[in-house]
Amino acid sequence: MPTPSDPAPCDLDEQLYECLECGERLCSASSPPACPVCDGVLQNLSRPRPE
Ligand SMILES: [Zn+2]
Repeated sequence: MPTPSDPAPCDLDEQLYECLECGERLCSASSPPACPVCDGVLQNLSRPRPE
């Protein structure tokens, strides 16, 4: 049984980041300083929550 691609893999209190260099995506509740794969710049793909 193939694993379905999840459009929202992050928890509610996490945000999705994408590396501008290698395209690696990761979820983190805190703001990661750099890509864990290539140490490149991360872009926050999630909008900050107004709380
Ligand atoms: Zn990267």
